[in-house]
Amino acid sequence: EWVDLVEIMENLVRNTSLQAKEKGLDIQLNIRDELPLILGDGLRMEQIFMNLLTNAIRYTNKGKIVIDLQRVADRHVLVSMEDTGIGIPQEELKHIFERFYRVEKSRSRQYGGTGLGLAIVKQLVELHGGQIQVHSQSGTGTRFEVRFPMDPVKEEGRK
Ligand code: ATP
Ligand code: MG
Repeated sequence: EWVDLVEIMENLVRNTSLQAKEKGLDIQLNIRDELPLILGDGLRMEQIFMNLLTNAIRYTNKGKIVIDLQRVADRHVLVSMEDTGIGIPQEELKHIFERFYRVEKSRSRQYGGTGLGLAIVKQLVELHGGQIQVHSQSGTGTRFEVRFPMDPVKEEGRK
């Protein structure tokens, strides 16, 4: 099915805004370009970004979450999500997509969770032919980048 990422992100931001507001967090959604529809599974696409967004909210205690949607050289659609949260230590970054991997025991006790979220996210991104990258700095924040190929795409359909 043809999936509209803009619609998915708008719904997710709407559905999490209360949760974010309770923590005093601002969520910004920037649609930088006219985006094509992407061939994929809408529910699974939603699951990808729901996981990333609930992580961003869970692991951020103050500041904001900025989500950018853009096209890169007519070849990829890029969704980036940046938070001003607790970050991930450099030496742990290469493990966070592993099943059941959670950063630091004390942190895990404080925030809960099973450590499956990002493993599922990575699998679902790759099933759609996409790629996921993470950049993070302990104490400063985290940025996830998800890229989907614009092949095949449908340019019409959303205004
Ligand atoms: P689950 O998603 O299964 O409820 P979880 O959030 O602990 O549990 P993942 O989503 O796989 O598991 O994330 C793995 C670990 O990566 C987390 O335990 C957390 O320490 C770290 N992490 C993930 N996203 C962020 C983020 N935005 N900021 C800081 N740390 C993060
Ligand atoms: Mg998670």
